[in-house]
Order: sequence, then C-alpha cells, then structure tokens
Amino acid sequence: MTAQTIDGNALARAIRAEVSGRTAALKARGVSPQLNIILVGEDPASQVYTRHKVNDSTETGLGATLERYPADMTESALLDRIDALNRDPSVHGILVQLPLPRHMDAGKVIEAIAPAKDVDGFHVASAGALVTGLPGFWPCTPHGCLKMLDSIGYDLRGKHAVVIGRSNIVGKPMALMLLQRNATVTICHSATADLKALTRQADVVVAAVGKRNVLTADMVKPGAVVIDVGMNRNDEGKLCGDVDYAGVAAVASWITPVPGGVGPMTRAMLLVNTIEAAERACTAAEGARPTAT
Ligand code: NAP
Repeated sequence: MTAQTIDGNALARAIRAEVSGRTAALKARGVSPQLNIILVGEDPASQVYTRHKVNDSTETGLGATLERYPADMTESALLDRIDALNRDPSVHGILVQLPLPRHMDAGKVIEAIAPAKDVDGFHVASAGALVTGLPGFWPCTPHGCLKMLDSIGYDLRGKHAVVIGRSNIVGKPMALMLLQRNATVTICHSATADLKALTRQADVVVAAVGKRNVLTADMVKPGAVVIDVGMNRNDEGKLCGDVDYAGVAAVASWITPVPGGVGPMTRAMLLVNTIEAAERACTAAEGARPTAT
C-alpha cells in the first residue's frame, strides 16, 4: 500500500479563505477582529512563528498586532499588559508566545488571559471546557489534526486511536478530541512499556513526541491513518517529523508530511479561534445593546 498524503498547506489555504469570508461578514456588522500577540525576548524561533502568525492574520483581513518586549520585562509588567488587553473590547484574541524567559511563570501568565480571549486554548478554563464538552477554545495543533482527519472523511466512531505524547498542548487535548468523536483512545508516553504492541493495533496514530523515527513501518497496521505532529531536524538539518515517512507511507492509507502537514494547520486554527472569539464578542455585545421600541 502507498499512503495518500493529507496536504496541510492546501487545507490551511481553504481554512484561511473561510476565515476571510467570516472576517468580512463581521466587519459588515461593524466589528474589526483583532489579535494581539505578545513576544517577550529574542528567541529566534519565536520571532519566526510570531511573524507568520501576523502575516496569516493580515492575509485573512484579521487585525494583528505584535507587541515586542525585552527579555528583562518583569512578570508583573506582563500581567498588567494582559489585564489591559483583557479589558480592551477592541481586542478579541490574546496570544503570549512561549517559551517565556526563565524568570516568568508561564502557567501564571497563561491563566491571566481572559478565557474568552484565549485563542491558543491553553488556559485551564479552555482545557476544562474540552474535558467536559462545553464551548471553549481548542488548542490549535490537535484541532488542526482533527480537521485533517475530517478532510478525508474519516469516521472515528469505534476506531482505535493511539496518541503518542501526553503534553497539555498536543497529546492530552488530541486524545480528548478523538474521544469526543467516539474513538477508543490509548495515550502513550515515555513510560509506555511496549509502544509497538499498541501502535500495531491502531486505526489512527498521532505522533507528538519530538523525536525522529518514533514511529516506523513495523509499528503500523496496514491501512492505518498516521498524523505526524513532530518537528525535528534530520542529519542534514532539514525539518522532519516523528514518523519514518518513507517507510510508514508504504504501509499506511493516509499520512501527513513534515513540512506541509500539521504545521500549517496549527497556524490556520489560530485564525479560526480568533474569528470565533470576535464573533462571540460581537454577538454578546449586540445582545446587550438596548433594542429600540
Ligand atoms: P513535549 O511537551 O516534549 O511532549 C512530548 C511527549 O512525548 C511527552 O508526553 C513524552 O512522554 C513523550 N515521549 C517522549 N519520548 C517518548 C518515547 N520514546 N515514546 C513515547 N512517548 C515519548 O512536546 P509537545 O509540545 O507535545 O510537542 C511534541 C512535538 O510536536 C515536538 O516535536 C514539537 O515541536 C511538535 N509540535 C509541532 C507543532 C506543529 O504545529 N507542527 C505544534 C506543537 C508541537 P512523558 O510525558 O512521559 O515525558
């Protein structure tokens, strides 16, 4: 079997087009959706990521402001800035780019963001909403993975999904989303005794580890769908995932590439969360406005 590729770039393009339409519709209601991104320090990768996020937003008509602060910014100054953004009705989404400098408590900073503006979906309230099935913002990376499965019309009901990795931003929320779609979910991690025995049973494997070749062809059931979240560098310094792409593609039915897979979808789902936040704020404001009699 030679797997078909789930093209994250094409899917992300389609999602951006949809967000453009929703942005135009919201502007027609008198609201300009606005995302503020906070970058503290000079981390080179963070500078690239935040630039992409601003460019993506601008392309879809969303307003995006990159707020840059020096690495020695105090935590209380950052909390004050987040508080001001929380109270600013013209700002609909707030994103604090991680990692933060060591002297800051990232958990405390994320908890300072108003859940209604938590477009990264990292706040405890967002995590709780996902666990309980209430409306809230879903973390962009696993949400993008789910959209990729939807894009091939994959029905997760009754399927066995194995998620490798249990981070709060990828593995755990991914497992909850798959569970919500009625998959039977197994979560694996560094202490999992026999990873291969579990992945061999899986109809869907999501690899979110951060190590090359965590998933090889002998670990995959023929016809399985494989989603590769990992971002690593190979010996030539090129971007690669957690999955041995060539080997696994010979066994799986569908596979996501790296680059061009989950990465662009993560970026696209941030735009979806931002327009969603702005739409909810607009609807709430319209509902609060006194009606003419
Ligand atoms: P993380 O916080 O480091 O979590 C990695 C997880 O992998 C942990 O749960 C760890 O287990 C588990 N693990 C480590 N070695 C393992 C092994 N040999 N077998 C099974 N599980 C193992 O990383 P993350 O933030 O979730 O990110 C994972 C990867 O996705 C990274 O490469 C990251 O760069 C990438 N990523 C990509 C995107 C994108 O947009 N494409 C977005 C986010 C992240 P323990 O919990 O037991 O330590």
